[in-house]
Amino acid sequence: AAAPTGAATSPAPSATPGVATEAMVRARGVRKSYGSNEVVKGIDLDVAAGEVLCLLGPSGSGKSTFLRCINHLEKIDGGWISVDGELVGYRRRGEKLYELRDHEIAQRRSRIGMVFQQFNLFPHLSVLGNLMEAPLRVRRERPEPVRRRALALLERVGLGDKADAYPRQLSGGQQQRVAIARALTMEPRLMLFDEPTSALDPELVGDVLDVMRSLAADGMTMVVVTHEIAFAREVADTVAFLDGGVIVEQGPPGQVLNNPSQERTRAFLARVL
Ligand code: ADP
Ligand code: MG
Repeated sequence: AAAPTGAATSPAPSATPGVATEAMVRARGVRKSYGSNEVVKGIDLDVAAGEVLCLLGPSGSGKSTFLRCINHLEKIDGGWISVDGELVGYRRRGEKLYELRDHEIAQRRSRIGMVFQQFNLFPHLSVLGNLMEAPLRVRRERPEPVRRRALALLERVGLGDKADAYPRQLSGGQQQRVAIARALTMEPRLMLFDEPTSALDPELVGDVLDVMRSLAADGMTMVVVTHEIAFAREVADTVAFLDGGVIVEQGPPGQVLNNPSQERTRAFLARVL
């Protein structure tokens, strides 16, 4: 199965994939359609290791789709994406690219943490059970070290006393912090957040943003889709504004948020601020 369709229809990834680089995520000319509806229309983006990129944009602009492409949840129709020097969807052997098999995709995906608007915790497992599930089942680690790591992560997100609770006994904000801790048990090199606070009552948003802020301060590479402009202003190294499947503008938060060069960005900010 050596038919790298995505790569064949676009300029071959030149020096990048396979070679260690500073960039944790690179996207070039990324396109994605659902049927005849093209929703990502040629995205170029770099996220350096240790950097936080905040992705803003109106509903339906392709933000979630693009995140899903980074995380091997969608197959792209054009261009390429690399994560930590590896081409998403392909394995390189010599000069050739081979499409990844399902188990290889699962393995790659397990090194990327993803947190959704809906927390998606396993309702029948305790908090600790939720955290231990992937390391035990996907990586077949020994339980005791996993348990210690999970408990330390719960402390870190401020839920050290909730190990034995069940998701339904927690507030939305606590559940979302469990979801973040659960993603961290797999020791990801990249964390993707898709509107992690959008489903929360306003008074619960702060604790979740605090956890994300501390992750960023610890050097985690993060791509965050959010409408929390204050968070983006404070934590993002780069803000990208997406509209109609293209990045309309990107740059440091001070520039994009305070002094946008594009009318579409200005109109969007006027609505959400
Ligand atoms: P955003 O996250 O910016 O709100 P999405 O990436 O979710 O935008 O969606 C972009 C467009 O793609 C929307 O028009 C949406 O209806 C469409 N879309 C998203 N997922 C699917 C899917 N699985 N099948 C068909 N269309 C989809
Ligand atoms: Mg979305």
